Amino acid sequence: MPFTSPYGEITIPKVNLLTYLFPPGDTPSTKPLWIDSKDTSIALSPAQLLSWVKRLSFGLERANLKRSDVVMIYTPNHIFVPVAYLGIVGAGYIFSGANPAYTLPEMVHQIKNTEPKFILAHPTVVKTAVAAAAQAGIPKSRIFQFSDLDNPPIEGVRDWRHLIGSPSEGDKYSWPTLTAEESMNTVATINYSSGTTGLPKGVCVSHHNLIANIEQTIFMRFLDKPFNRRNLPPERWVGFLPLYHAYGQLYTIIMAAKLQIPVYVMKQFVYEDFLKVIQNHKITHLQVAPPILVMLTKRPETAAYDLSSVTDILCGAAPLSKELQNNVSKRFNVQINQGWGMTEVTCGAIHVPGGVHDESGSVGQLDPNTECKLLDDDGKEVALGKPGEMYIRGPQVCLRYWRNVAATKESISSDKWLRTGDVAICDERGYFWIVDRKKELIKVNALQVAPAELEAVLLENENISDAAVVGITLQSEEWPRAYVAIQDAAKGAITPAQIQEWIKPRVAKHKWLVGGVTFVDEVPKLASGKIQRKVIREWSKADAKIL
Ligand code: AMP
Repeated sequence: MPFTSPYGEITIPKVNLLTYLFPPGDTPSTKPLWIDSKDTSIALSPAQLLSWVKRLSFGLERANLKRSDVVMIYTPNHIFVPVAYLGIVGAGYIFSGANPAYTLPEMVHQIKNTEPKFILAHPTVVKTAVAAAAQAGIPKSRIFQFSDLDNPPIEGVRDWRHLIGSPSEGDKYSWPTLTAEESMNTVATINYSSGTTGLPKGVCVSHHNLIANIEQTIFMRFLDKPFNRRNLPPERWVGFLPLYHAYGQLYTIIMAAKLQIPVYVMKQFVYEDFLKVIQNHKITHLQVAPPILVMLTKRPETAAYDLSSVTDILCGAAPLSKELQNNVSKRFNVQINQGWGMTEVTCGAIHVPGGVHDESGSVGQLDPNTECKLLDDDGKEVALGKPGEMYIRGPQVCLRYWRNVAATKESISSDKWLRTGDVAICDERGYFWIVDRKKELIKVNALQVAPAELEAVLLENENISDAAVVGITLQSEEWPRAYVAIQDAAKGAITPAQIQEWIKPRVAKHKWLVGGVTFVDEVPKLASGKIQRKVIREWSKADAKIL
């Protein structure tokens, strides 16, 4: 029998995300909510946000966009990203974010895959956007500069203010109401994830998926205080999680709007700036991934700042040891709760409920409306307390992969069970622990690295005849490591360090082969041609012991 949530079912609205956040008849607040962390005069209240949102939606409709058309955002974080997100999604179109650290080939891949109608690119990356769009056959007229300033043209690319409607056109605009059916089937966002295998794929998340995940997450957080939430002390957040990732989008954009919590948005993550933002703006709650907790304990700068305003930390997106969790919790006198999530479940599916102090390293219990099966290698459910691969079902499970029927079939069954590739155990109270990862995915700094992508790049090197990439864990951090077979003619003429350097300009920094390159005679393969990843993982584990 699958595990069901101990919290049963909650009712989840089936409407347009914008209607959910700004219900008819509600007057949006005029207090600043999205605030630039360095210059607090640059800020947007919900009322201002909504005005910009409607101007953007109007502009996109005027440009004849159809439902299921994609608008791509390629920018570091800034306070107008929530405007783009909600303006695109609310109008019924699809938001897709790209990592601003992406190199030209990475952008070409994502543009070719999503075929966006428009690209909103930050001035710092506009040149890459133009070059990538040209390679993908998208004219420059469909690219706009996008930041918190009105920018003069760069290479003929105009500011996004030329795309949107005037304030009065925005005022008159009303976003489409979605029926329950449409809320469940209309794709709102496409974020990229490699899932359990292969190259990064677009994950199609609906309006209903987003609303469900917000409702579930709020339910779990306030489980111990469902009725007096409005009387709790005010919270202040820092928005440093990247807004091209589901985790950042859910908290910095949607949850902040829903709970009306001010977020100090950081354009770039610099550790000391992060500490300053916490101290200066008396941040109360943090949403982080484990590398931040490592920094809090190890970096000497930490001691110079007053972080006593922080009461709660949510940690997710990558494995966190209970030692590190308890260490940070004690040293800073904060409550740390873990959550488990995946781009394919919108953001999260398992959380340690609010009010529970966990010291065991558990990722928590199933959110309401969520089921889980733990299966062994033969597809049979494991006994309680035994490890099994986690399958999840619930209203937050994504619709499908974008234009990839085969990958969808491999990952989501016809009765809507999502294969996660994570191995977990569960106890009799319904608490889960993630104990292993069965899929190919490597997580660097909590960001995804798909081995298949790096292998394809390595094979572009004329000296390399074959390559396999796996994660290696060194001092509790995971890095990509390549096992490479060299062409006979190149033997003795090329070094592993040269390959590490060669890949740098070709991929974003978090994908660099920091875990090293080893030359091998042959990459072990199955008769089908598939890399024997289990063997390579064993090599990597053995290498980790001697490195
Ligand atoms: P992403 O789609 O980028 O959010 O990555 C999802 C993957 O991150 C999951 O499938 C897990 O492998 C990993 N992950 C997320 N949360 C946790 C957690 N709390 N503990 C261990 N691994 C996690």
